[in-house]
Amino acid sequence: MLPGVTTLGEPLTRPLGPRTAKTLESAFGMRTVGDLLRHYPRRYYTRGELTDLSSLREGDHVTVLARVHMASEIPLPSTPGKGRRSRLEVIVTDDRDKLTLTFFSGIGMYRRKLVPGVVGMFAGTVSSFRGRRQLVHPECEMLPGAPPNADLTPELAAEFAAEMIPVYPASAKASSWMIARSVRTVLDPLDAGEDPIPAELREREGLYGRAEAIRAIHRPLDQPDLKQARRRLKWDEAFMLQAALAQRRLAAAALPAMPRPHVDGGIADEFDARLPFTLTAGQVEVGQTIAGELACAYPMHRLLQGEVGSGKTVIAIRAMLQVVDAGGQAALLAPTEVLVQQHCRSVTAMLGPLAQAGQLGAAEHATGVALLTGSVGAAARRAALSDVFTGDAGIVIGTHALLEEQVQFADLGLVVIDEQHRFGVEQRDALRAKAADNRPHVLVMTATPIPRTVAMTVYGDLETSTLAELPAGRSAIATHVVPAADKPHYLERAWARVREEVSRGRQAYVVCPRVGDAAGGSDDLDEDDVGDVDMTGGVPRGVVQGRRQPLSVLDVAATLDAGPLAGLRLGILHGRLHPDEKDRVMREFTAGEIDVMVATTVIEVGVDVPNATVMVIMDAERFGVSQLHQLRGRVGRGSAPGLCLLVSEAPPESPARERLDAVAATLDGFELSRLDLEQRREGDVLGAAQAGRQSSLRLLRLLADEDLIRQARQDATAVVSADPRLAAHPALRAAIDELLGVQAEYLDKT
Ligand code: ADP
Ligand code: MG
Repeated sequence: MLPGVTTLGEPLTRPLGPRTAKTLESAFGMRTVGDLLRHYPRRYYTRGELTDLSSLREGDHVTVLARVHMASEIPLPSTPGKGRRSRLEVIVTDDRDKLTLTFFSGIGMYRRKLVPGVVGMFAGTVSSFRGRRQLVHPECEMLPGAPPNADLTPELAAEFAAEMIPVYPASAKASSWMIARSVRTVLDPLDAGEDPIPAELREREGLYGRAEAIRAIHRPLDQPDLKQARRRLKWDEAFMLQAALAQRRLAAAALPAMPRPHVDGGIADEFDARLPFTLTAGQVEVGQTIAGELACAYPMHRLLQGEVGSGKTVIAIRAMLQVVDAGGQAALLAPTEVLVQQHCRSVTAMLGPLAQAGQLGAAEHATGVALLTGSVGAAARRAALSDVFTGDAGIVIGTHALLEEQVQFADLGLVVIDEQHRFGVEQRDALRAKAADNRPHVLVMTATPIPRTVAMTVYGDLETSTLAELPAGRSAIATHVVPAADKPHYLERAWARVREEVSRGRQAYVVCPRVGDAAGGSDDLDEDDVGDVDMTGGVPRGVVQGRRQPLSVLDVAATLDAGPLAGLRLGILHGRLHPDEKDRVMREFTAGEIDVMVATTVIEVGVDVPNATVMVIMDAERFGVSQLHQLRGRVGRGSAPGLCLLVSEAPPESPARERLDAVAATLDGFELSRLDLEQRREGDVLGAAQAGRQSSLRLLRLLADEDLIRQARQDATAVVSADPRLAAHPALRAAIDELLGVQAEYLDKT
């Protein structure tokens, strides 16, 4: 080790040397001392507490703490010319179970090291040999023995007995103790620098200082010491992130936007007068909030979340019309062609003569609606582009085709983004950049309910509104799990139910995880079908791993047509269809010319056909919890009750089956999104931007640490509002810069 102090920002090569530094970088992407010190132990062994060997599973890469029970050398069958050879078999134990360690070389050395009675850590991949679990050539590190009796003071003895040994997330190349050694090397001479969390705050919360916390998480004296360390480091994560978000909110509010106040007697008012229903109290309230924000001279930046069918679209249309009345244009961006077409139909239908500017019978202040998707024909596209450019089209609806460079607005005042979770940041920014001098107001909508802490963290620079109630007259949706494996007649009953509904003039959906084709490829979903359908059996957890290919739309449609649903009018919808074909199928379904739509998750978002009353979801365990909830929101939208059947072969009491039972048990989207979140890692929640790189959230759990996050948000906002540039908090500023270096991408998602 080189003399002098180490600091968090310095490269690992200096204290560790180039070889170790390179190993750590290639294994974990670590570059600095700070990166290494944020690689927290996965667990701690207390000396004397051995690993429960019965829990080891074949194929796992494990690090276990165990005692050597016996070692024996076993001759191998002799090979001509190779002399006598043997293998060393060492049996280790946790005092209940046994595990075999097998060595074929270095036998003398291992014999000396692995003597019966000593305790060591062994790392390797669990395999099985003649029915016994073993580690072949594991890495070994023996624990040093107790201090010699002569030196053993009572204090020393107690400390030795209690010592907690950190176990790090390791890889084949970088073992837990190699990491432990590296940590020790940088930790001893560490100068953690000035503490980024203000002193008053640390005092109030009774938090460890940063240096203390870093030491204690790697080398805890005891459980309370470790607990304090974790609490302080969680505060770091929550506080830095919230401070960064608070800065972004302030910066956004400082940009100019054109105020678009409500105009009395405009088309917004006329639209309200024409509405065939009464707005719910929630719709009125959110509408007022938005109307007020649109009238401000800085940009609105609001997330509207509301259950499927809670009536977000009406809110969006009213906001758009307010902007049109004020002389601006509004763009509505939706993720799929199907959804765009549907929005276009419902907007023109709801607006009626208000949307027919330039046509016969148009209302007095009518505006135009332009449609821009990838599949609009050349002539129609030219006309639409021109209407957008001149401002004749007050409302522009489209997919990401809206983002193309040729699309130029006369005066873009509002951007509405439907189903926010499907869009990335670049897209939102591209659209925003289309407003000439001022920033447009932005309203993003999502029907995937987000628990409050996630909203505060992931969407932390948006203000949020929530539509809690559904419009009156919405019917309940009953959900049942149909166990297809052990009770085939249940599935027959499901098809009988579908026939029954159809005979009453209702319609049905059958959803499958895959499109399917002759080639039988499994990775066949189009962008329109995107969702978190699990094709690999990897995520979400608890999915039954593929004994067979997931069911496909094409196969299921053919089977139903030939058997259980013969004689009904079946339609097929998936992302691979030509856009015109998709549109035609949707129209026919809406018009009641198709009885049963067999589809992928292309219908997940926003599809609105009130006459559809049953949904059968095949291989339901392949879908995420939130996605199932979204899907079933497609039925029960009219006056008749909805029925959702989750068909699954997941065995009773399997985790997959439990997830489905949970979905069947509640219609509360927020509860389900909590469940979803519990089953995923935070990194997944924060999105793909974090995949493969280091998440800034190591210890913080968005659900379990809700109170801490809320408090940190309040404190961080106060600090930033009082001192936006953090002039008085250089250490905090530096910590945020470091965070943004890593995290810019995901913060930008919001
Ligand atoms: P989502 O929030 O899922 O986007 P929509 O805006 O598509 O919901 O609304 C679902 C359906 O409910 C639409 O047919 C819409 O016209 C209707 N709707 C919206 N608000 C009300 C209301 N206050 N009363 C009755 N029906 C409503
Ligand atoms: Mg919608």
